[in-house]
Amino acid sequence: MTDFLTNSHDLNSSGMDDFSSRSSEVARDTWKKFLELLSQNLRQAEIKTWFSVIVPKDFENNVLTIQVPSTDFYAMIEKRYNKEINGIIESGLLGKGGKLKYVVYQQGLFETPRTDNPAQTKITDFKYPYGSSQQKKENGEVFSSNLLIRHTFENFVKGESNELAVAAAFAIANNPGGSYNPCLVYGGVGVGKTHLVQAIGNEILKRNPDKRVYYLTTPDFTNQFTTSIARDKFDFSNGKGGAKKLDSFYKSLDVLILDDIQNLEGKPGTQDFMYQIFNSLYNQKRQIIFSSDKPISQLKSIEERLISRFQWGITVDIQPPSWEMRVAIIQKKLEEANINDVPDDVIHYIATNIKDSIRSLEGCIVNIIAESLLVTKSEINLELAERVVHKFLGTVRRSKSVSIENIIFATAEYFKISENQILSRKRTKEIAFARQIAMYLAKEMTNYTLESIGLNFGGKDHATVLYSHNMIKENLKKNNELHDIVADIKSALAKL
Ligand code: ADP
Ligand code: MG
Repeated sequence: MTDFLTNSHDLNSSGMDDFSSRSSEVARDTWKKFLELLSQNLRQAEIKTWFSVIVPKDFENNVLTIQVPSTDFYAMIEKRYNKEINGIIESGLLGKGGKLKYVVYQQGLFETPRTDNPAQTKITDFKYPYGSSQQKKENGEVFSSNLLIRHTFENFVKGESNELAVAAAFAIANNPGGSYNPCLVYGGVGVGKTHLVQAIGNEILKRNPDKRVYYLTTPDFTNQFTTSIARDKFDFSNGKGGAKKLDSFYKSLDVLILDDIQNLEGKPGTQDFMYQIFNSLYNQKRQIIFSSDKPISQLKSIEERLISRFQWGITVDIQPPSWEMRVAIIQKKLEEANINDVPDDVIHYIATNIKDSIRSLEGCIVNIIAESLLVTKSEINLELAERVVHKFLGTVRRSKSVSIENIIFATAEYFKISENQILSRKRTKEIAFARQIAMYLAKEMTNYTLESIGLNFGGKDHATVLYSHNMIKENLKKNNELHDIVADIKSALAKL
């Protein structure tokens, strides 16, 4: 074991130290900085694969203690990344004579939450917000684009399913505010919308670092807006109040990227605000980019005037990836993680079995790498891939979000009534009962708000949904028959 001890790195396999919470907080911050520095030299996928399982434990007397899953893991990091790690230590991040001390994970020694394999869960949960690099503007304003550095064109695999979207994205990066304005990217969940719209932003910034490029998701946009109203009672008619600051911030942007606009459904106030910003930016030939996971025509309860604005420029879609494209993506992700020796039959097997989205594909690959690295400690072969894919498909299926459409369908089937009757306003006893159960399930099984659920039930208001949910929930406690009905519908849903 002493073979791989170096001057600046110590390995301690006992790991019995009792770390105080204050120094572990400092350790966390220091480790975060460490990772940020590493990310300047390593690809994100490498960091995700190799460093996300490391837990910072303690920082005292310029010694940063980090916990690794095993001595093998330590040895591999040493072998691959010694140069980069030493570079950071030498840069003085840990202070004079700084050292990195490794301790090896032993069950029960640390308070880290444990599932069957802590390392794996850590990898998939990895969320360091790299590179939403902050710029300091001349007027002292701190401006952050919110873009992740890893979302670039270079990392984005092109293929038939996203050809048009990529072509439009390049055109926009070449000439922001030009003829592709606004641009709306639409496609299912996990097909690469966020990656692509952020890649446009990153490319524009690369060419012109002074541009004010700003990315955010629609829920964040809504939050910003409602918070500023709550704080200062903004009045659009005279432009006075706290949201005015927000308003002028948005109107000062060169490029606005608003992700997931399907979340504007049923929020008229936010839509109004969006509309004002849109007009102002558009008139000044500033680029606006939207994404949505539904085609515009299917967005419910969004003002006509806003819908028509969305369609002024170009609309491009991203389709689910074909088999060939999935193969290309798997190869790219393995290459990014610096893993080169995976046989073709393994890659083909994964591509054949993980079909639903690129996000799943990525998740599955991370699990396969982790399994080979931490559990079997062997090469990635077909047997290992099969095992992980099976497990992965099991979890994906269980956690896959249920759609409101399916809930309505399954409930209607159960009661032998039509879906339209559930969506209607009919109040006959049976229909009203079925509707209440479906609303209850929608609230329990999806992440939609009461408002959105109401909309999806043929435009009911949120109070109706709330009432139904409470009613069923209360009755479930005392009524076994109801319990069975709900269980039957749920199991029918699982089979859809
Ligand atoms: P969406 O926003 O459509 O739900 P994301 O853009 O978040 O999907 O993509 C999910 C994951 O898949 C991200 O980690 C992203 O980097 C990756 N990804 C998506 N499309 C591609 C692609 N064409 N090439 C490489 N990686 C991709
Ligand atoms: Mg997204």
